[in-house]
Amino acid sequence: MIRKSRFGQLLLKKEIIDQKTMEKALIILADEDPSSPRGLGEILVDDFKINHHAIYGLLAELYAFRSIDINVTDLDNNQVKHTKEILLKFPEEFKKELIYKKILPYQVTYGRRNTLIVLAADPTDKITERIPVYSEYKKYEVVYCKLETLEELIELIAPQKNEFLDLLQEAEEQIEEMDESKSEADVDEYALDEEINKSLLVSLFEGSLIEAVRKGASDIHIIPFRRSSVDFYFRIDGKLIHWHRQERTSPEAISAVVKDRAVGVDRFERDTAQDGFMQRVIDDHLIRFRVSIIPITSSEYERRFESIVIRTIDDRNVITNLRKLGFQTKAENDFLKSISKSKGIILVTGPTGSGKSTTLMAALYHIINPAINVLTVEDPVEYHIKGARQLKIGNRFTFDSAIRSILRHDPDVVMVGEIRDKITAEIAIKLANTGHLTFSTLHTNDAPSAISRMYKMGVETFLLAYAINIIIAQRLIRKLCSNCKKPISKERWPAALEMGITEEELTSGKIFEAGDGCKKCNGGYKGRTNICEALYFTPEIRKAIVESGEEIDEDEIRKIAEGQGMLSLMDSGLDRIRTGMTSVAEITYATSED
Ligand SMILES: [Zn+2]
Repeated sequence: MIRKSRFGQLLLKKEIIDQKTMEKALIILADEDPSSPRGLGEILVDDFKINHHAIYGLLAELYAFRSIDINVTDLDNNQVKHTKEILLKFPEEFKKELIYKKILPYQVTYGRRNTLIVLAADPTDKITERIPVYSEYKKYEVVYCKLETLEELIELIAPQKNEFLDLLQEAEEQIEEMDESKSEADVDEYALDEEINKSLLVSLFEGSLIEAVRKGASDIHIIPFRRSSVDFYFRIDGKLIHWHRQERTSPEAISAVVKDRAVGVDRFERDTAQDGFMQRVIDDHLIRFRVSIIPITSSEYERRFESIVIRTIDDRNVITNLRKLGFQTKAENDFLKSISKSKGIILVTGPTGSGKSTTLMAALYHIINPAINVLTVEDPVEYHIKGARQLKIGNRFTFDSAIRSILRHDPDVVMVGEIRDKITAEIAIKLANTGHLTFSTLHTNDAPSAISRMYKMGVETFLLAYAINIIIAQRLIRKLCSNCKKPISKERWPAALEMGITEEELTSGKIFEAGDGCKKCNGGYKGRTNICEALYFTPEIRKAIVESGEEIDEDEIRKIAEGQGMLSLMDSGLDRIRTGMTSVAEITYATSED
């Protein structure tokens, strides 16, 4: 047993983490690279997604650091100017290092000896000891400040630079200058123009990758606008948001740049769909990108062009703590109960983009430990799971052959990317019946219809009834921005009433809709959560399935489950509205049949 530190004991005592998490974290801690080991706090935040403030607030308290709370929105201009002046007195490299570690030299308090107040999200970081070495400030005090607050402050006072976008601006200025001097044309001008244009597009493209990752975009869409412009969109919290329009650029030129820089793509192929891959180190993290290029013909553009979508795969966004998914209490308890069994199928259903793989990842992370063999079969492998063996389906390795070899590979837990036909359905059932915990997904709108779907694929009712532990149907919904949401307006009352919200609730002022948007959000929404229908297989549910005749009676199953406390997708949504988390419009959109 590895010895727990005083800090570790305090974390347990305050119930910030449980014993199990602590043990896992200590194993990782003992295994850290000795040249740059991470501390317990870092491991808990990075690998277990424990709230940063919960950990570091406590650490600050333990070591008696003063802590400060700053309202960044109302920050005084003089303060901003003051901090900027302080930052000027630091060498560029050291300043970068401080900012990267979310440490901000903030203000000077004047006294007998002037003291520099340094805000830090981790006040124990040893880098602060170098402040007197690298600056004129010989006396300093480190003060704890919440990470989110520091991020806002840094964004305001010393925003991160995107050097590619700086280059882009330079190149554009150069082109403008050249345009002005066009009359004194010389022979090389065209070639030069071409050269600058290419480097401009490279900067734009590379810059867009960095911005997308920093803004937390899941996808980048590159689409032509008219004949000689190209639009870049970012998908953030599920909605496409316009990021940039590049004028005077042919769509062909930008696709040439993208194709040049993606692995596995043929630059001269323009007639078929292509998939490529890229990776970049952005802000010290390896980020992977999946590039999809498809040829499109459209009368709107009067010609053919290529549509490009780039998926960002940032492992930092993987939720490894199941409780962080935000499921409602009964669903979460049933889910935990289902995955703590040694066998059975855990099925997550919903349309594309409903967060199915996020849920599966978190569930796998919840149960994974070195004593169990976890195998996954996916096409393609989306996220790398520490401690799992992951098989990628490819040309030579088909889904069926992969699954057959899985059975011989002695797994305890298996994740099959998707149940798509009778073969995969039967394999999932077989795995479950031979003592494996089996995770998979299915495309259906709700939980009871997943049973029908598998029945129609040809799986016997008694196999379905006894192999499955739980079916979770889910959707992602956007959360209202708590900074600018407002009580629901009168014209939206009828929709709310129809949904089941009472007149009393509407007049109470506790039902909200999106505001006009503010600095802290995207058009009135910020972040996402789920709504879900968690159909736990109780003896009564199993009995109803076995006793089905020609068809699975979905309504009967729903009735029994709701009688046992299951929330339907709509009821789950209503609960989100009543707690002020989201709007009527968002739930209507999420629960409409697709
Ligand atoms: Zn807002």
